[in-house]
Amino acid sequence: MDSHGRSWRHGARRAWAAAALLAVFATSVCAPAPARAAEAKKPVLRAGAAASNITPWLDQPVIGGWKAAPAERIHDELHARCLVLDDGTTRLAIVVCDNLGIGRELFDEAKQRLHAQTNLPVDRMLMASTHTHSSIPCRWKGDKVSAEGSPDYGRFVVRRIVDGVRRAINRLEPARIAWGAADVPEEVFNRRWLMKPGTQLPDPFGGTDRAKMNPGHQRPDLLKPAGPVDPQVCFVAVESAGGRPIALLANYSLHYVGGTRRQEISADYFGAFADRIQQCLGADRLDPPFVGILSNGTSGNINNINYAAPPERRKPYEKIRLVADRVARAVFAEYGNLDWRPYVSLAMRQREIELAVRKPTPDQLAQAREMLAHPEWPDKRPHQRTYAHRIVRLHEAPETSRVILQAVRIGDLGIATVPFETFVETGLELKARSPLKPTFTISLANGSGGYLPTPEQHRLGGYETWLGTSRVEIQASTKIATALLEMLADMKP
Ligand SMILES: [Zn+2]
Repeated sequence: MDSHGRSWRHGARRAWAAAALLAVFATSVCAPAPARAAEAKKPVLRAGAAASNITPWLDQPVIGGWKAAPAERIHDELHARCLVLDDGTTRLAIVVCDNLGIGRELFDEAKQRLHAQTNLPVDRMLMASTHTHSSIPCRWKGDKVSAEGSPDYGRFVVRRIVDGVRRAINRLEPARIAWGAADVPEEVFNRRWLMKPGTQLPDPFGGTDRAKMNPGHQRPDLLKPAGPVDPQVCFVAVESAGGRPIALLANYSLHYVGGTRRQEISADYFGAFADRIQQCLGADRLDPPFVGILSNGTSGNINNINYAAPPERRKPYEKIRLVADRVARAVFAEYGNLDWRPYVSLAMRQREIELAVRKPTPDQLAQAREMLAHPEWPDKRPHQRTYAHRIVRLHEAPETSRVILQAVRIGDLGIATVPFETFVETGLELKARSPLKPTFTISLANGSGGYLPTPEQHRLGGYETWLGTSRVEIQASTKIATALLEMLADMKP
């Protein structure tokens, strides 16, 4: 914390304490009875927030890389961070969980239980994963322990999500709200690169790619990044009517940061951001506690590594802290300029759409089966055996997949949700074409269905487009964007 941050923090705390005192004085002593009666009729925006600890127990496999190894240490706690908003007519809950990607069945279960306990409609609940790569599998169905992870953890997370939202509802209080955006261009890089003509890029299926994920630093055959980045961090800030910070929900299109230690549990920079923005706002140890939340934007093809420069050497978690600090400070720099509204209306839309599941060709299936029939065969192509398993699973999967899309309106601000690791092009398109300004997209929401490249990026090939990494039809991103834009337009105030 620099000295500027500290003095602002103390100033801010004094200001909201004084405002709270004045508000009490004004309503209890000064306000004449008719004015109070008129005020009671005005719609009131209320907000409440809570963070449930969802840190797993040790010895479960840490996922996020090609090989999972059992967790031996907890670097920092994992949370399900919950925000509930209520405009007097519409109540909605937003939950962001520190996990690589929670499937639809688990979120559906949490929503059903929450509905039974609170009456909140299931289509007013937005639940998403951050995509920290230092978490364990979190599934609702499945009874295998070993590599699939214990089903006990899924049950635990469901209960913690339900508790978190109930606690946020219990904390609902009159609130004011604001939103803003800032650019942090220096921490986002398109991780897919076009390579110079003649570069060999074999895929696992016997074909050739034109784009390469994470190609390596300063390779002489690097041509240019295969797509854009989205530098924007967009956020919604909620304070009590007296100005005490309740919650801040931010969104940035960065896959994760990494640079953790192996076999360690961590919320990655998502958790570090929540901590840092709380510190910047002088919101430590409030009662009720402030909840910082960072959701994953459209980062399927975006990471934190600049392949045009030499590799950085850093201590574990150093880069996580650095990126979290930059993103939090960019938000904090805007915080003083926000246009606080004592009331905004809320709206939410949910739609389920059916997408075709990609299927292997007869030739691809035959090759995969042959590979799997010979466990002694080494890979002749990159990740050949891994993808042989995935091809057989896709062949056996249902023909279609039903996915949930959501759109939320908070005043003039829009939020779209996609249950995939969405490519940045889709997020930029939604930001540009949404009638709500600003709009941001939360990925891995209400499910976790793999990568969602655009049709143009599918044509370039590369890891994210491989059959099994991307599981739904090539046109899926276009269909999803069209549906979301209709839903956003439908809520225009
Ligand atoms: Zn990932």
